[in-house]
Amino acid sequence: MRRDSALISKNMQPVLEQLLVLQNRDQKIRTIERELKMAPVEKKEFEERLASAHAAVEAIKHKGREIEVARKSLELDAHVRRDSIAKLKTQQFQTRKNEEFAALGNEVKRYEAEVQGIEDKELELMDETEKLKPQIAEHEKHLAGQKTQVAEQLGDLKAKIQAIEAELQRLTAERATLAAQIDEEVVERYERLFASKGDAAVVPIEHEVCMGCHMKVTTQTAVRVKGRKEIVGCEQCGRILYLEV
Ligand SMILES: [Zn+2]
Repeated sequence: MRRDSALISKNMQPVLEQLLVLQNRDQKIRTIERELKMAPVEKKEFEERLASAHAAVEAIKHKGREIEVARKSLELDAHVRRDSIAKLKTQQFQTRKNEEFAALGNEVKRYEAEVQGIEDKELELMDETEKLKPQIAEHEKHLAGQKTQVAEQLGDLKAKIQAIEAELQRLTAERATLAAQIDEEVVERYERLFASKGDAAVVPIEHEVCMGCHMKVTTQTAVRVKGRKEIVGCEQCGRILYLEV
């Protein structure tokens, strides 16, 4: 009787084949889920690139504004001194004292020299402003380019996510159907293994070596795998073994 029951024992080959198809879908699902996890990282990279282009434009414009403020302040300084010069000259022509006339004249000269110095600085700043203009234009051009590029990339990413999510749904439904066709206990064993191993739960055996952990299995295990009458696990890593046909 025992011998008979062994003879009619179920051929496990179709189950192993079903498990391999299930595993294929699960691996695809795993890859897709990783891609989905990367999507926010990609999105952040795009947005940061745009923000940095924005910041570069703002920084150079800020520099331009600072130069303008400094130039206006110099303009005011020069204006104050010119007013003083005018007043001193009036005083100079009103005085009848030679000493006072000379002293006022000296003060006028001192102010005039100061005005000259201020005007030189103003010219330097105007020069800086001129030099800044093409730089600002360049940064603005770069920003405009980035805006277009990032908008495109974000659009592509959104479309990619939508396609991936649809694919994920399809695969999830498919794997559920596949799993339902396999013995529940076998599926549970497979799922535990698949969750704990990074790669595969069902692996081939080649020259009595498990292709999951690359360790040699015992001859007894190899014989049981070849028999295809039961689900056989690698004694080292526990992965389900099959013989490639
Ligand atoms: Zn193994």
